[in-house]
Amino acid sequence: MFCKLVAKEIPSHSFYEDEHALAFLDINPRAPGHAMVIPKVHAAALLDLPEAEVGPLFGAVKVAMARIAEVLKPDAFTIGVNQGEAAGQTVKHLHVHIIPRWKGDGGGSIHSVVHNLPAEDVAAIAARLRQG
Ligand code: AMP
Repeated sequence: MFCKLVAKEIPSHSFYEDEHALAFLDINPRAPGHAMVIPKVHAAALLDLPEAEVGPLFGAVKVAMARIAEVLKPDAFTIGVNQGEAAGQTVKHLHVHIIPRWKGDGGGSIHSVVHNLPAEDVAAIAARLRQG
């Protein structure tokens, strides 16, 4: 569905676009200026995004954030991706949420998203990851 948005087949409240990415406001915003940045090529998730598109996508996130910071003057930002159904992804086209934050807005930090403390020691997990 976000591919249709890139192709302008469905309207969006877009506010920044370049060769690689499109930034637009979320239609169900959790905060004023809640925006999303998507790659123009279709990729369901970050792990599917071609290497050459990763940098430009993050660059577009920064430009969109700068625009929001300048115009809406939030106190802070939360940036995040829901990747996969278990994480709450509903639209299967990679999108980076940019949520402007204000002091006292009632939200939490990224740490408030999940509370699933690992049974395995942190050092043991790191060792497994280093091995690949
Ligand atoms: P998620 O996949 O959980 O990260 O959430 C998808 C997000 O896309 C939700 O926050 C929706 O409000 C938003 N959304 C869905 N369709 C549109 C659309 N056509 N334009 C803007 N935002 C959308």
